Amino acid sequence: MADLPSVCATIAEMRAVVRAQRVAGKTIAFVPTMGALHRGHAALLHAAHQQADHVVASIFVNPTQFGPHEDFHRYPRTWEADLAVCADAGVGHIFAPSAEEMYPPGARTGVEVAKLQDQLEGLSRPGHFRGVCTIVLKLLNIVTPDTVFFGQKDAQQARIIRQMIHDLNLPVEMIVLPTVREPDGLALSSRNQYLSPAERAIAPQLYRCLADVQARYHEGERQTSALEAELRSELLDITGFRLDYAHVVEADTLMTVDCLHKPGLALAAITLGTTRLIDNVTLP
Ligand code: AMP
Repeated sequence: MADLPSVCATIAEMRAVVRAQRVAGKTIAFVPTMGALHRGHAALLHAAHQQADHVVASIFVNPTQFGPHEDFHRYPRTWEADLAVCADAGVGHIFAPSAEEMYPPGARTGVEVAKLQDQLEGLSRPGHFRGVCTIVLKLLNIVTPDTVFFGQKDAQQARIIRQMIHDLNLPVEMIVLPTVREPDGLALSSRNQYLSPAERAIAPQLYRCLADVQARYHEGERQTSALEAELRSELLDITGFRLDYAHVVEADTLMTVDCLHKPGLALAAITLGTTRLIDNVTLP
């Protein structure tokens, strides 16, 4: 078995590791996660290993990106299995701070990315992206990587973080990797563990509907109203899905346009039982 990564529980320890790597002339790649690692996370970790001399992964279930009635307390925590995934991917260090370490009492500063944060997930989950951007900026300030990896699974998050990195002149290269899926199309997600067998059986329909819209786009359809109407009606037809949103937007602005002249995204969020699932496809 591969060597287990070393674990840093404090910011001071993490900074000392980074300093030592820098003194040794090493490059650093960073993969922020909330743990419950699956093959989607593993793809990011393996790509990070290809990219840099030293890989740091963070495992931190960030309380500030969960709403008061969301699943923070039941979010899966699978520490031992996560260690094995990190070891297999060649992770050098795991940064796993406590909530108190990251948010000592009295903190007042938060990062907001205007407009991009206010639609889609942002409408359904007020304050979510403020929580995400603030923790990602803090982590980037602590780990100071050369490269940071994110997944296209969270397309709006990736777009917003790219904007934050640009606007705040953060000296880091951002790489976004495609969504890793189960053989039946379901996007891997830590939240898939919540699904009952019956729910798991219908969950892949979310991707099937998105893939149908992508096929229609590839056939030449550019009117977002037509693409969106098809997506919505297909999703509404699936017994068991409660539709939160289904939109076709411009990938860069995340805004609705009449006709897609630039690359787009089709995104949807549904609830299945008590599990909220999101997915998206690119319309390149
Ligand atoms: P999370 O642990 O859910 O915060 O995710 C950590 C990172 O893994 C984020 O950049 C996600 O976009 C990415 N990720 C989550 N699921 C997948 C997936 N199925 N394929 C690729 N990347 C993913």
